[in-house]
Amino acid sequence: MEHPPDEVFNQPPELGGLNLYAADPVAGTLALHGSDELRRIGAVAGSRQFRDWGFQANRFPPELQTFDRFGRRMDQVEFHPAWHELMATSVGLGITSLPHDAEAPDDAHLDRAVRAYLVGQIEQGHMCPVSMTYAVVPALRQQPDVAAGWERALSSRVYDPVFGPPSEKQGVLMGMGMTERQGGTDVRSNTSIAVADGPGGSGGEYRITGHKWFCSAPMNDAFLVLAQAPGGLSCFLLPRWTPDGVQNSFLINRLKDKLGNRSNASAEVEFESSWAQMIGEEGRGVSTIIEMVNATRLDCVIGAAAIMRQAVTQAVWHVAHRSAFGAELIEQPLMQNVIADLDLEAQAATALMIRLATSFDRADDDDHEALVKRILTPVAKYWITKRCSEVVREATECLGGAGYVEDSIMPRLYRESPLNAIWEGSGNVIALDVLRVLNKEPGALDAFLTEVETNVPNLKSTVEKLRTEIQSTENLEPVARRLVERLGMLASASALGRTGDPAVTDAYLRSRINGDHGSLYGTLPASIDAARITKRAYGLIEAARI
Ligand SMILES: Cc1cc2nc3c(=O)[nH]c(=O)nc-3n(C[C@H](O)[C@H](O)[C@H](O)COP(=O)(O)OP(=O)(O)OC[C@H]3O[C@@H](n4cnc5c(N)ncnc54)[C@H](O)[C@@H]3O)c2cc1C
Repeated sequence: MEHPPDEVFNQPPELGGLNLYAADPVAGTLALHGSDELRRIGAVAGSRQFRDWGFQANRFPPELQTFDRFGRRMDQVEFHPAWHELMATSVGLGITSLPHDAEAPDDAHLDRAVRAYLVGQIEQGHMCPVSMTYAVVPALRQQPDVAAGWERALSSRVYDPVFGPPSEKQGVLMGMGMTERQGGTDVRSNTSIAVADGPGGSGGEYRITGHKWFCSAPMNDAFLVLAQAPGGLSCFLLPRWTPDGVQNSFLINRLKDKLGNRSNASAEVEFESSWAQMIGEEGRGVSTIIEMVNATRLDCVIGAAAIMRQAVTQAVWHVAHRSAFGAELIEQPLMQNVIADLDLEAQAATALMIRLATSFDRADDDDHEALVKRILTPVAKYWITKRCSEVVREATECLGGAGYVEDSIMPRLYRESPLNAIWEGSGNVIALDVLRVLNKEPGALDAFLTEVETNVPNLKSTVEKLRTEIQSTENLEPVARRLVERLGMLASASALGRTGDPAVTDAYLRSRINGDHGSLYGTLPASIDAARITKRAYGLIEAARI
C-alpha cells in the first residue's frame, strides 16, 4: 500500500484513558464489597489527567529550600503542582487511612491495597508518603496517649500541604527515619542520641541529636525515628512542629539525586536537640517500629505488582497495534509467548498481593491468618519485588525503540522497578527474616504449606520435598535465597489457585514450578496456549478504554 511521505502509519493509537480496574485480569474480578468504588477509582487512576500529573511530577522534581532570602533556615521542599494533585487524589481515596477508619469494613486492607495498586501503576513516587502514613498507625498505637493526639488528622481524607503546626491542619502525613550513614539494615549501629526532657519513659519527652541518611518525604508532618536512649535503641515520634507551635529542629542537608522515584524527595537530615516523644517501651525501638515496617513491606509488594501490570499493559497495547513482516505483532507466535509469559508473572504478582493484603485484614482474629501473614510478608516482599525489574525490561523491549523514550512511561517504570527490593529490607535481609520465621515460629511454615496444598492439590509432592529439605538442611543461611524463591513461587501458584483463571494457574505451575521454562521471559513451552492468554489481556484492555 502507498502512503504519503508525511503520513504516520503502523504506530499505535494513543492508549488514552483506561479503566485500570476493569482492565485487570485478577484484581478486576474481585468480589469485594467495595467493587463499584474500585471501578470508579480504576477510571480516575487511568485517566489522561492522572497520567499527565504523573509525568509532570517526575519531569519537575522537588527542590530543597534551605534558607529564605534573608538567610533564615527554612528546611522546606517545594513541589510541582502536579505532585500536590497526585497526593490530594490518593489521600482523598483513603489510601493513607481506609483500614484505620472507625467504621472500616472487614476487607479494608485489601480494598485499600487494590486502590494503591491502581494509582501506583501511574505514579510510584507519591506512594512513598502515602504508604508511610498508612503504615505508621499500628506502630503509633503502641503509645495510645500519643496516638490519640494524631489519629484525627491521620485518618483525614484531606491532603493539607501547608507547612505548619498539626493543630492547624486538616490532615497530616508521617514518615520514618531509621537509616543512618553507618548502617541501614543494622539499625543497632544508630548513633543518634535521645536524652529525656523530663521524667522520660514511654510517651515521655526527649531531645534527639544525630542524623538520618535517608529520610523520605521530609515535608511530612512527623516521623517515627530510632535513637539510642539510656535503656537502648528506642522509637520516637519526631514532629516538624513542637506542641508549642514552634518549628522543630529538622535540618535538611540535601536531597538525594536518585535513580528513580524522582517525584518524591528523599533527604539527608540532622537533628539538633530536636523535640520528640518516646513511642513504646524504652530499648524496644525495633519491635515498635517493625509494625510500621511490616505494613510498608506489604506496600512494596503492591508497588511492584502495580509496576509490572502497567508495563505489561503498555506492551500488550503496543504489540496489538504494530505490524512487522506483514502481520500484527500480537498475532506472531513468538511475541505471544513473550506477552503471555509476562502476563502470567504480573497476574501471579497481583494474586499474591491480594492474598497478603487479605492476611492483614484477618490476622487479628484468626490464628491461621496471623501465621500466614508472618511468613508471607517477607516471602512476597522478596519474590515479587525481585521479579519486577526483569518484567519491566522485557515489556520495554516489546515496544522496540519506542519503549526507550521517556514519554512511553517505560523508562520511568524501569527506573522505579528495583526500589521496592531495596528499601524496607533489602533481599538478603528479607531472606534472613524468612529463616527467622522458620526458627522461631515453625507453625507459620506449616500453615502456609497446608494452604498451598489446599489451593493447588497437585502440589502435594513438591511441598513434601521442600519440607523435607528444610528439615534436613543443617545451615539454611547460605541457601536462604534459593529457599525463599521456591516459597515465593509456591505462594504465587497458591494465590493464583485461589483467585486466578485455572488455565493461568496451570501455565504457572507447568512453567515455574515444574521447570518447563527457560531463564528469560518468552520461553513458555509450546503446550501452553500463549495466544489465549495474550488475547485475553488485550480484550480486557480494549473493553476498558474510556
Ligand atoms: C529512595 C530511597 C528512599 C529511602 N527512604 C528511607 C526513609 O524514608 N527512611 C529510612 O529509614 N530509610 C530509607 N531508605 C533507606 C533504605 O531503607 C536502606 O537503604 C535499606 O534498608 C538498606 O540499608 P543500607 O543502605 O544501609 O544498606 P546495608 O544495610 O549496608 O546493606 C547493603 C547490602 O547488604 C545486605 N546485607 C545486610 N545484612 C546482611 C547480612 N546479614 N547477610 C547478608 N547480606 C546482608 C543487604 O541486603 C544489602 O543488599 C531509603 C532508601 C532509598 C533508596
